[in-house]
Amino acid sequence: MKITSLQAFYPKYQHVVPSWRTHFWQIVVRVDTDSGISGYGLGGGGVAALEVVNRDFSELLVDREVESIEDISEIWDDLYFHSIPYGRKGLAIMAISGVDLALWDLVGKAENVPVHSLIGSRKKSDVRAYATGIDSEWYSESGYTAHKFPHRWESESDYDSAVARAETARKAMGPNSLLMIDTYMTWNSDVTKNMSCNLEEYEIYWFEDVLTPDDLEGQSKLREIVKPILISGGEHEFTHYGFREIARSEALDLWQPDITWCGGITAGLKIIDLAEREGIPVVPHRGGEVWGLHLIVSSSCENLAEILPGTKESIQDDLWFGEPQAKEGLISPTDEPGFGVTINERLMP
Ligand SMILES: [Mg+2]
Repeated sequence: MKITSLQAFYPKYQHVVPSWRTHFWQIVVRVDTDSGISGYGLGGGGVAALEVVNRDFSELLVDREVESIEDISEIWDDLYFHSIPYGRKGLAIMAISGVDLALWDLVGKAENVPVHSLIGSRKKSDVRAYATGIDSEWYSESGYTAHKFPHRWESESDYDSAVARAETARKAMGPNSLLMIDTYMTWNSDVTKNMSCNLEEYEIYWFEDVLTPDDLEGQSKLREIVKPILISGGEHEFTHYGFREIARSEALDLWQPDITWCGGITAGLKIIDLAEREGIPVVPHRGGEVWGLHLIVSSSCENLAEILPGTKESIQDDLWFGEPQAKEGLISPTDEPGFGVTINERLMP
């Protein structure tokens, strides 16, 4: 197949998840070929990333042949190398992620197989889903057995707010559920140490993003201190080159690459390889979306996929049709070709 066009779009979002973060700035990438088959992927970086794809990457990829995942890997290396002066991390890699995922979708559709089969043999049927957000009771009612809630540090009174929040979540979810906390880089080392004592009885599985991704040393020191709580992170790190530094500094107990930001499936597979060699568990950020879910079922990732259900009353945009939904706390990708989803054209500009 020869690529005839590569285009990125910023969807006309109407509703955003009422949660701890208002927007992800996700973009849609479409690759068309002379075979008549098109692939779709999701990337990050908002309208700035559209420029990267539409004005820069498309010049490199139009007329290029793509038949296999080896071809995708070569394209990944070329886009990475080409964008080094302005890339390496952040939105250039978020743009590459969208292109990479569109190419995996394309090859899957061309071979009439799901992406999880392209990756390898399936190792998990259903994946345990964990609900991230604020509506603990509704998640429990919906059958989730794992839940992550946000907590922000603003003042000393937030020691109490963390305990109150953990109390609510543990009560709603029950004693056997997994509970995690995402601090979105608002705690510091002292707060993290104190929280590990204050929250002991709630048996928190991991503390996520307690420091900024640049403070690898600080996070590394915390690992021993907060045990058995895990120090997790990685949604703000990019590519296997970035995760190599996390490995070297032994900064994290658990890695959370975002497959639509870190460089797509191609980079995700290399990150998982590295993690396996280091003995580190991987739980992709937003892994309940098809982009991460296909990777989870056919790799050594943990059996855990993040979902952002919002709240009971909330309305969410359906950007994709055919997205698998969590049922009784479990989620599974379909065997439809590619990622098995189609774009909602109503949200396309
Ligand atoms: Mg997070």
